[in-house]
Amino acid sequence: NAGTLAFIGIGNMGSRMANNLVKKGETVRVFDLTPANAKSVPGAQVCNNQEEAVKDASVIITMLPNGDIVKDTVLGTNGILKHASKGSLLIDCSTIQPQVAQEVSKATYSAGFKFLDAPVSGGVTGAEAGTLTFMVGGDKQVLNSADPILMKMGANVLHCGDSGAGQIAKLCNNLILAITMIGTCEGMNLGIKMGLDPKTLASIINVSTGRSWSSQTYNPVPGLIEKIPPSNDYKGGFAVNLVAKDLGLAEGVALLCNAPVPLTAAAHQIYRALSCNGYGNKDFASVYQFLKGN
Ligand code: NAD
Repeated sequence: NAGTLAFIGIGNMGSRMANNLVKKGETVRVFDLTPANAKSVPGAQVCNNQEEAVKDASVIITMLPNGDIVKDTVLGTNGILKHASKGSLLIDCSTIQPQVAQEVSKATYSAGFKFLDAPVSGGVTGAEAGTLTFMVGGDKQVLNSADPILMKMGANVLHCGDSGAGQIAKLCNNLILAITMIGTCEGMNLGIKMGLDPKTLASIINVSTGRSWSSQTYNPVPGLIEKIPPSNDYKGGFAVNLVAKDLGLAEGVALLCNAPVPLTAAAHQIYRALSCNGYGNKDFASVYQFLKGN
């Protein structure tokens, strides 16, 4: 195993990822601003602050809400670079702006550390099962050294290119995910309102051209698939606020290269509207509930 690992950000994703590292024999120290979250990983050493978690760790993984928090956590006045051992590797698995990943990478290497951006796809179900896809930006050799650790949390580790490239790939994936989820919610809601049986409609779509991850693995209609957030009052899962964040980030990247992203913009506004109507912390499949009404 890889020596002591530090894991910062033990939320919906981080708790499950850290849990797989522990289960697969790694020594893991965890820290989260919310102490109850930090205590959610059996077998991990719970730390009271970031300094305690990262001290002497050979690899430090962050899974945090956004770019500002990642930047502050790594480069801030009391950040990781102030307390970690020189030469250690930082792997940021959060979804953030590619430009911020590049900035943090540059500062990290300048200070004598290594850095990879390694955002993930697969949601909480993939995090739980250890089947995440890691989209990695940064030095290929550094990635080779990190591969055994990432493979304890995922099934695919893909090198996307230089620093920031993992984030670009992730944002492209997520805009497609958000758009297909909204489309699936729209189609399922229309069919059900017109009297179709939800199970029948889903089974038709899933052997037809409307099929997607959203229809097949994460169908937004409650009760169709067990043990996913739509069947648990849209609790847990991929929060509406985070999807809205990712769509905003994708629009920001589109501005850098003048790529038109019309459906990304529409999906962004739909998720913002959900957020303003009390759905912010619900799973992103709750677009179905929003469209359906009461
Ligand atoms: P979350 O809000 O459940 O978890 C974030 C955790 O970070 C929380 O426990 C919070 O207390 C903690 N935190 C915040 N600031 C901190 C700080 N300064 N120091 C230590 N801990 C801090 O979010 P999540 O769903 O786990 O997502 C995390 C990241 O992964 C996001 O960037 C998100 O976009 C991305 N992501 C999420 C999913 C998903 O399905 N949930 C899928 C892929 C990627």
